[in-house]
Amino acid sequence: MKNQDLKSGNLYIIATPIGNYNDISKRALIILNKVDYILAEDTRKTGILLKYFKIKKKLYSYYEYNEKKNSTFFLKKIKKGHNIALVSDSGTPLISDPGYRIIKLCRQKDINIIPIPGPCAAILALIISGLPTNRFCYEGFLSHKKNKRIQRLNELKLENRTLIIYESTHRLLKCLHDIKKIFGKERYIVLIKELTKKWENIYGNNVSNLIKWIKLDLNRLKGELVLVISGYNNSELNNYKISPKIIKTFLLLKKELSTKKAIQITSDIFSIKKNLLYKFYIKKKY
Ligand code: SAM
Repeated sequence: MKNQDLKSGNLYIIATPIGNYNDISKRALIILNKVDYILAEDTRKTGILLKYFKIKKKLYSYYEYNEKKNSTFFLKKIKKGHNIALVSDSGTPLISDPGYRIIKLCRQKDINIIPIPGPCAAILALIISGLPTNRFCYEGFLSHKKNKRIQRLNELKLENRTLIIYESTHRLLKCLHDIKKIFGKERYIVLIKELTKKWENIYGNNVSNLIKWIKLDLNRLKGELVLVISGYNNSELNNYKISPKIIKTFLLLKKELSTKKAIQITSDIFSIKKNLLYKFYIKKKY
C-alpha cells in the first residue's frame, strides 16, 4: 500500500483480468473494497467480477456515450473527497477502452490519479511474439471502414517499429487481406489468441501463409486476438533469435532428410518462417 491509497479524493484506474480471474492484483482488490463507488464500462460484466471476489460496491456506468457528461459529474464528487475507481470490461482502462476524458479533466484540475497495474493484452502479446520489443507501436483497432483502414495501413507501411493491432474475429480475414495488399505478402505476423485463457494460442508466419493457415480451419478465427506485426525492413535474421532448441531439431532432421525438408519441418514445428531458417543455415554453413 502507498500512503496515498488511504487518503480521500482519489481517482483509481484499476486494471482487471483479461480472462483469468487469478490475475487480479491484491492491491486492486483492496482498493475496489475501499472506494466509495466504481465506474464501469459495463456494470453487468464488472458486477460478475465483483461478485466472484465477494465485493459489494455501488457501480455506475461509464462508457463511450456518457463519458463526457459523467466525467464532469464524477469530477465534482472526487473534489468533495469521494474515492472513485474506474475499471473497464477487461484489462487496462483507456487502452482501447473508456477513461481518457475523466483522466484529462482530473489532470487539468490537479486531482490525484492512482494507477493500479495489471493485465493488458497488447503488452502480453508483444512480449511473447518473438518480435523486437525495444521499440513498438500500439495501433489499437483499425477502422471498420475499408477506406480508412487502407489509408491508415498505407501510413504504417514504412513504420519500422513492431506494430500491435487489436482485431475482432469477424474482421480478421479482411484485415489480413488488406495488410497483405499494402505491406506485401512476406510481412511477418504473429497471431495471439485467448491470452490467459484455456485455449491460449500463438502462431507466426508471413501474412500470406497466415491467411492460408486460418482458411484450413475456420475455428482458428475464433476467440479474442491480437496481431503483432514485424516492422518494415526489420532484419529478422538479426532480431529473431534462433534458439538452441530450434537448431538442435533442425540438425537432427538434417541428418535424415534433405536440407529443404529439414527446414520445412523445423519451421512447421516452431512456427517460424522457412526463409529465416534458410538464411540462418546459409550464414552458419551447417
Ligand atoms: N483494455 C484492454 C487491454 O488492456 O488489453 C483491451 C480492450 S479492447 C476493447 C478488447 C480487445 O483486446 C479484444 O478485441 C482483443 O483484440 C484484445 N484482447 C482482450 N483480451 C484478450 C485476450 N484474452 N486475448 C487476446 N486478445 C485480447
